[in-house]
Amino acid sequence: METILQGYGIRKETLMELQKGSFTYSLEGVNSIKSRDFFLGGHALFTVSNPQGSYYTYKIQRPEGRSPRYFVNLLTGPDNESSYTYLGILDPGSFDFRLTRASRLGIDTAPVKVLRWALTIFRNGNRPPAGYAVQHQGKCCRCGRTLTTPESIDRGIGPDCYERGLS
Ligand SMILES: [Zn+2]
Repeated sequence: METILQGYGIRKETLMELQKGSFTYSLEGVNSIKSRDFFLGGHALFTVSNPQGSYYTYKIQRPEGRSPRYFVNLLTGPDNESSYTYLGILDPGSFDFRLTRASRLGIDTAPVKVLRWALTIFRNGNRPPAGYAVQHQGKCCRCGRTLTTPESIDRGIGPDCYERGLS
């Protein structure tokens, strides 16, 4: 283990902290979403977390065809493929989220507030404050396939989808 870690240039003091088990990890930089384009990929799956470790996972999908609306869902159950609750729609132009008649949660509920907070950050070209994280799940934001290359993971979009761009 020591050889492998040192091979990656990790300092000896850090290695000792790891071995002592006192190393504190940081979410910042791990699968962090870099731009608002991610949310408009059509298959955006991401988690927003705060310094206390609370988090919500959202899915923003564009239906087939040229729909101007993106549907936002919240993970609310044990099955991370199917346990989603409908929240509302995202306007891709203004980047505004709003509830619709079918929305299952109110505007003042924590999941909706957290979502709007996160979207506002990216709409304004900012990054989350220290301790907060907005992370993708290692899936391409456009096609939903698992990302494998370091570059793709960093971008949150696979190479083919990146070449095609958002359309
Ligand atoms: Zn893709």
